[in-house]
Amino acid sequence: MLEAKPFAMGIRIEHPQELIDSIQYKSDGRGAFLPAAYYQLVTQQNGKGVFSFCMCPGGIIVPSATQSGEVVVNGMSNSRRNSPYANSGIAVAIDPSELSNFQQHGPLSGLRYQQWVERVCFEAANKSQQVPGQRMTDFCAGKMSKTLKPTSYNPGVVNAELHHILPPEIVPYLQGGFKDFDRKMKGFMTDEAMLLAPESRTSSAVRIPRNADTLEHLQIQRLFPCGEGAGYAGGIVSSAIDGENVAKAVAKALNA
Ligand SMILES: Cc1cc2nc3c(=O)[nH]c(=O)nc-3n(C[C@H](O)[C@H](O)[C@H](O)COP(=O)(O)OP(=O)(O)OC[C@H]3O[C@@H](n4cnc5c(N)ncnc54)[C@H](O)[C@@H]3O)c2cc1C
Repeated sequence: MLEAKPFAMGIRIEHPQELIDSIQYKSDGRGAFLPAAYYQLVTQQNGKGVFSFCMCPGGIIVPSATQSGEVVVNGMSNSRRNSPYANSGIAVAIDPSELSNFQQHGPLSGLRYQQWVERVCFEAANKSQQVPGQRMTDFCAGKMSKTLKPTSYNPGVVNAELHHILPPEIVPYLQGGFKDFDRKMKGFMTDEAMLLAPESRTSSAVRIPRNADTLEHLQIQRLFPCGEGAGYAGGIVSSAIDGENVAKAVAKALNA
């Protein structure tokens, strides 16, 4: 037994860190003593949530695919947070019921949709670990970028029309979300910012159902679904806590 669950899909945005510093600190820069500035943004666009995720001050964008034939981006900061870039996932909430072309996959509909987006982006960027990218302002205006800005993504970026490549469940919501984010953080919308796609693994699209008390699978005894992939966590800390809880549940079952 598996269940489809709501998840999120989007892009990773990268600004110059100096720009984010000047917006957040409301000054020319952060000087010698302040840390690289952070942001957290959320908005509703026609009833759908659009939000920043895993913002990485002074960070880099990294490849995170797990199979051949797909691309996925993610972000990270080293402890000094001293790269010249600020990146963040910007994701749109998706309910599995929206994916009319994927219903034949049942509980795996969201997973197949993620896979499809990752493959489309792979095809659009030389079938390598390069990813399709576009300037933020051109994405919002619906036109191809004439040139791209350098990014921290080491494998490289291929100029692409993300507003055509990415699906309609996310494009208009991202476009509207960016405009709202610019109202909240004046200067966020800029042709200095690059969008790289896809940010497709922000949360699991599937859940393996378990008994709320024993944490065992509803049908298979002694199977304990656990962590992010099973749909019970999102991120390091919540996965670790779920792991602890499941370890205790396993011990209890073995000692019963
Ligand atoms: C680049 C990057 C940056 C991230 N940054 C952050 C961050 O800043 N903060 C944050 O909270 N989260 C971050 N995350 C997300 C975080 O890493 C995950 O949410 C978390 O690791 C999920 O924990 P988990 O234990 O559920 O799964 P995992 O950590 O993925 O552990 C699953 C384990 O199962 C093993 N495994 C898989 N298949 C098998 C098999 N068949 N047999 C045996 N073993 C198997 C895998 O090798 C792996 O060790 C980041 C992720 C990435 C990729």
